[in-house]
Amino acid sequence: MSETFRLGRLFGVRIGVNWSVVVILVLVVVGLAAGRFPVLYPDLPTGVYLAAGLVAGGVFLGSLLAHELAHAVVAGRNGVEVEAITLWMFGGVAKLKGEPASPRADLWVAAVGPLVSVVLALLFTGVAVILNQAGVSGLVTGVVEWLALINGLLAAFNLVPAAPLDGGRILRAVWWAATGDRVRAAVRAAQAGRVFGWALIAGGIGLTAIGAGLGGVWFVLIGWFITMAAHGEEDYVRMQSSLAGVRVGEVMTANPVTVPAGTTVAEFVSDYVFTHPFSTFPIVDAAERPIGLLALRDVKRLPLGQREVTRVEDAAVPLPWVLVLAPQEPMDAAIERLNLAQSGRALVVDGDRIAGIVSPVDIVRRLEAAEIARG
Ligand SMILES: [Zn+2]
Repeated sequence: MSETFRLGRLFGVRIGVNWSVVVILVLVVVGLAAGRFPVLYPDLPTGVYLAAGLVAGGVFLGSLLAHELAHAVVAGRNGVEVEAITLWMFGGVAKLKGEPASPRADLWVAAVGPLVSVVLALLFTGVAVILNQAGVSGLVTGVVEWLALINGLLAAFNLVPAAPLDGGRILRAVWWAATGDRVRAAVRAAQAGRVFGWALIAGGIGLTAIGAGLGGVWFVLIGWFITMAAHGEEDYVRMQSSLAGVRVGEVMTANPVTVPAGTTVAEFVSDYVFTHPFSTFPIVDAAERPIGLLALRDVKRLPLGQREVTRVEDAAVPLPWVLVLAPQEPMDAAIERLNLAQSGRALVVDGDRIAGIVSPVDIVRRLEAAEIARG
């Protein structure tokens, strides 16, 4: 899920919000203001319920953020850079650049999020107890009690030992420490994630069948998300392990056909597109130095009438935006950067000479070759 709008920076980490957060916030605020609060604390004006719902929703969002920030800060302390935190419908996602280097670091990064949620749950419970003893009952205490409950639920849900949930990462770290095999540990955690996801889907369908309505649909949605994410994690970790020990130079398509700057897109279409079996072409200056990368889909985007008057370097992705790799770089580390790169492509440069291009097709070919070699 992507960031729809940006809130700013905290502890050097970019904080973003996905549009789905607005949906969940509206659901939470309406659910509290029109459901829970009027039932528990009747005979108050509608505006009061609404205000209480808004406060509860806002503090809930802050609690989510605290949970994710804890992951990000501990990851940073363990040498894993954090790209951004995006809050969305089912909580938050901290995008880490890379993986913790040891089981201990892996465990700590995963466990600190639920730990923060538990601490918040205890904190709100304490405040509610104090308020009750001070004789402040009613809606104010109700808001605090709900916040204790929701943070407790958040911790409990995230501690289910199934990737991509925090509990799945804890399972991975413990398994990794016990066996020394990070790949197998990650695959097991992902498999647990798929089982849990399907269980949620089945439970949701069951709930809908007995007439639970929206609640069942909600379970199916969360289950589907967890199943898909677990699938993705398993594929990714298997891919990374297949590429261990392999260098970029062994995977790339070597000596790609280059296009001189100054060529018009129309000339490029007639002289290159149909005569060369490539989907990406480096654009070079007069000294054969790379200045950009032109993919066929960049050409496709250009209006037909613009082809005669646009030069290839203006249609291409300029070099500063292109991921540049060296042939001797390890492929399992490069794959993380390729995942973040535009269209998953990289230019391979040896000194100032173009050595090759890495595209998703090259990686798939290499993975299939590795599978054939394994039998
Ligand atoms: Zn978490």
